[in-house]
Amino acid sequence: MKKPNQLTVRVMGRDVPILKDDIVVQAANNLGEYRIQRNQIAIDSQVEQQLQGAVLIHEIVEVLNFDLELKLQHEILSSLASALYQVIRDNPQLIKQIISGKGLVV
Ligand SMILES: [Zn+2]
Repeated sequence: MKKPNQLTVRVMGRDVPILKDDIVVQAANNLGEYRIQRNQIAIDSQVEQQLQGAVLIHEIVEVLNFDLELKLQHEILSSLASALYQVIRDNPQLIKQIISGKGLVV
């Protein structure tokens, strides 16, 4: 059941709910997790708000790794996700431009 204000992220053509499930996530000693069977991403709500974005990007890359059968080692996946998160953070104007569908070069 989707809670009001609960965010979802569209990945590979499907909506993946982003939810809080601190007990399970913390018990596994993770900051977040992608649940393949349930099509859910859970993020530890105790994680600093700004860091939650980094955790989300990590879990999105986990979804891609699974769906595309990339078989990335977790260390590589983590590096890729961190770098991607940093690019997103460092380029808010560019991200807006990409979303607008307008050209990027003049
Ligand atoms: Zn992971």
